[in-house]
Amino acid sequence: MYDAERMSRVPFSGIRKVFEEVHKRVAQGQHIVNLGIGRPDFDTPDNIKEAAKKALDDGHVHYASNYGIEELRNAIAEKFKQDNNLVFDPNGEIMVTVGANEAVFLTMLAFIDPGDEVLIPDPCWPHYPPSVDLVGGVPVPLPVYEENGFNPTKKDIYDKCSEKTKLIVLNSPQNPTGAVYSKQTLEDIAEIAIEKDLMVLSDEIYEHLIYGEEKHYSIATFPGMRERTVTINGFSKSYAMTGWRLGYVGVDKSLMSALVRAHQYSTNCVSTFSQYGATEALLGPQNDLEKMVQEFSRRRDLVAQSLSSMKHISFSEPKGAFYVMVNVSATGRETEQVADELLDAGVAVVPGTKLGDYGGDFIRLSYANSYENLEIAMTRMAAYFNDL
Ligand code: PMP
Repeated sequence: MYDAERMSRVPFSGIRKVFEEVHKRVAQGQHIVNLGIGRPDFDTPDNIKEAAKKALDDGHVHYASNYGIEELRNAIAEKFKQDNNLVFDPNGEIMVTVGANEAVFLTMLAFIDPGDEVLIPDPCWPHYPPSVDLVGGVPVPLPVYEENGFNPTKKDIYDKCSEKTKLIVLNSPQNPTGAVYSKQTLEDIAEIAIEKDLMVLSDEIYEHLIYGEEKHYSIATFPGMRERTVTINGFSKSYAMTGWRLGYVGVDKSLMSALVRAHQYSTNCVSTFSQYGATEALLGPQNDLEKMVQEFSRRRDLVAQSLSSMKHISFSEPKGAFYVMVNVSATGRETEQVADELLDAGVAVVPGTKLGDYGGDFIRLSYANSYENLEIAMTRMAAYFNDL
């Protein structure tokens, strides 16, 4: 075996495994509705594609600045100001990355030393813990519970903090719970971060996918937080651009030097012509985004209504993103078994054990699928759960 020792600490993603199993079965002729993956089913809006095509035709085919093209950095600075009340200098406080994914990884590379502990609300997007493991840090699960709307509590944060804690990961709206962190939760986290001198990674990729009266707050706007927070966002979810691989960070100047060097020696820069598409995404009309959010809201209502009439399960209504955590503990079956049996019944979901130490009571559904497919999936799920 030639594998580096660090690779033994990072398993293959459980979500990918579900994805591969679905592919295999579909190829064998089984009809499956895939609620396992968080990928918007919409197409990237035409104006964005046209801008990227034009950039190719105009010859934007060479390396760009490590920070990203100027037009995009300016558009991102404007977006931060308008949507988040955050003022970042486009020259030195904003960097374009290969998806939000790279931004998360760069944050760990840039700021986590071997042995440093990183608090991660759990259940969580399963990429956070391995990104910490890969740099020699220690991911520490911070439990979040249904009864608190999956918001972390002050007490749990204090309990999980040690002398070695360096950073806390926030993701609101959250994958996989659909939680949106309240202003009070963020104030509590800010207070602890300042008291214990912690950094915060705030992954805000689902900020626009928020329903009803909920409001999104960027923790970097809270007093004392700007200089310790890495705010991460991207284009995958809001503009249906998962395959473009475009994300970005906004940070205080003091944090950029480490981040840009990590980026320089890994990917150098994001594909240049794609960045012109992303610029159009931010500067062009936003009606596709509005339509998409309305459609997700309609799907969420369908899923919530259908789930509430099924036996043996419970769930708290998701407030953001496009996921629902369904509590299956009353079925008396392990979450893995429920996921396997649902797959046999033609619905792919992710067992909560793949989403952290505290996910064992749940399965995760993604409603980033068509309304018609969701109707089929809900009928199949109702038949399965009601018959248990
Ligand atoms: N953060 C969260 C919470 C996510 O759910 C995802 C994608 N599933 C990402 C980041 C990755 O986004 P990107 O496609 O921009 O790398």
